[in-house]
Amino acid sequence: MAPDSITQERTEGDTATGLDYDSIVIGAGISGLYQLYRLRQQGQRVKVFEMGTGVGGTWYWNRYPGCRFDSESYSYGYSWSQEILDEWDWTEHFSPQPETEKYLNFVADKFDLRKDIQFSARVAKAYYQDDSRSWKVTLDDGTEHTSRFLVTAIGPLSAPVFPRIEGRDSFKGEAYHTGLWPKHEVSCEGKRVAVIGTGATGVQAITEIAKTAKTLTVFQRRPNWCKPLMNRKISKQEMADIRAQYDEIFQKCKESATCFLHTPDLRNTFDVSEEERLAFWQQQYDSPGFAMWVGNFRDMMTNRDANDAVSAFVAEKIRERVNDPTVAELLIPDDHGFGTRRVPQESGYFEIYNQDNVELVSILKTPIEEITETGLRTGDREFEFDMIVYATGFDAITGSFDRIDIRGAGGQTLKDKWKAGPKTFVGVMVQNFPNMYMLVGPHTALGNIPRSIEYAVEWVSDAIGHLTANGYTYADATQAAEDEWTKFVIKGNEGLLSADVDSWMTGVNQNVEGKQVRIIARYSGSAPVFREWCDTEAANGYPGITKA
Ligand code: NAP
Repeated sequence: MAPDSITQERTEGDTATGLDYDSIVIGAGISGLYQLYRLRQQGQRVKVFEMGTGVGGTWYWNRYPGCRFDSESYSYGYSWSQEILDEWDWTEHFSPQPETEKYLNFVADKFDLRKDIQFSARVAKAYYQDDSRSWKVTLDDGTEHTSRFLVTAIGPLSAPVFPRIEGRDSFKGEAYHTGLWPKHEVSCEGKRVAVIGTGATGVQAITEIAKTAKTLTVFQRRPNWCKPLMNRKISKQEMADIRAQYDEIFQKCKESATCFLHTPDLRNTFDVSEEERLAFWQQQYDSPGFAMWVGNFRDMMTNRDANDAVSAFVAEKIRERVNDPTVAELLIPDDHGFGTRRVPQESGYFEIYNQDNVELVSILKTPIEEITETGLRTGDREFEFDMIVYATGFDAITGSFDRIDIRGAGGQTLKDKWKAGPKTFVGVMVQNFPNMYMLVGPHTALGNIPRSIEYAVEWVSDAIGHLTANGYTYADATQAAEDEWTKFVIKGNEGLLSADVDSWMTGVNQNVEGKQVRIIARYSGSAPVFREWCDTEAANGYPGITKA
């Protein structure tokens, strides 16, 4: 999609609108960077406010030990610039965080994006102003900034959450949340370390920390089904081969329901003999990336017997890999089936429980009651540590919105509008929040996220370009359009086994006030269907949007 029109470059404050900017973008992660680039290409005066001191979003904040992609690196990077594709070499199939952060800095430098980004700038409020059809954004430091359009690029997993346990501040040792990991070197060498949490983050961090810690105690509430990542280095020659296949790689992602390189097998689980089934699963277990999760038999996520069968297969793998049968059983989930929560990918995770320096403590029946000055206390034991690592996740999807006071027309708060769960139009607009666009907000396609981000950025850029080209200063989703999309998203969840499981995907977080009940915050249909819906909307001149 080419920009609608390129206007001459304008500078801050020289506009007849009296607004500081044409667009304000919140966040300089993967989506914010590309959004800045696109809108700037369209001749807009754009400002990005970013909480961190550097670009990268997720890949800026999550610098915990072991952090890396779960998507194939070359399927994750930007596809919109031939120069980036030509110049950037990935060195591992699943890039580690430092390399990804470097990549995003490389992009920011290449397109001189930093000049329009204000760092260390946390947006506290964003109020729509009815009279001027604009947004007023207030930062933590009290400064106010106005724009016609507001684009939120704040990510679905970016509001870190600590557990609600008494005494957290009293601990005298080192304490870190994985999503707020410090920029300075943190060494676990020779230390007594605790990790709380065994989601995708915990699994990566635990595996790495176990290599150097004197002792590592893992506090696990509910175990997750994990599968091997099968990462390896990319040689110069292999990178050249990958580069030659970029068109096919991105086309494959475009056609896949989850935007990954893996697509479901069109057979049902019990269409094949047991022997064939087990061989298929073995091959998937040994394959890199998410093959086993998103490339499995097509009924794995809807047929309970099928799901039980694949879960039993993976349970056997855990038993094979963990020496102590009691520990192995603790690591096997019994409250949800394989793939019904996000599948952590691991690189030797189960084997660390065979090490003498690692202990697994199940806190399902004996929760952590208190963090003390020297460690923590569960229902039946007291522990001493030098370091506590909180791998306790995020207030997902709506959490990053909740942390900003966002008010639409007539002063309605977004939090209030979404009290019973999000309502959106194609996951991008919210009725009564005119001129506000969300990148990877609720009810939008996610999957291999940069692929969804690129589409969202381009759709939003075109929509804003359409308004500008036609002299409109106001755009709001119609009530009918919002209702229709919201209903469609809710319907798409029906019959999915994952909809019956508590996880960030179903909006449940015991650590966040008011988030104990499952909601439908995620679009779980296929990305091509989502894009078809959005493409049709654009091709028809945006009938779901009131323009003035
Ligand atoms: P998460 O999946 O929500 O896991 C949080 C963990 O903390 C869970 O094990 C949870 O236990 C535990 N926990 C929370 N509160 C607790 C408490 N009060 N006491 C004890 N344990 C507690 O969060 P995450 O691991 O950070 O992952 C979130 C998402 O980020 C992933 O699903 C994935 O989408 C993304 N991610 C991606 C990558 C990648 O692509 N490479 C890597 C990491 C994460 P319960 O399960 O019992 O609630």
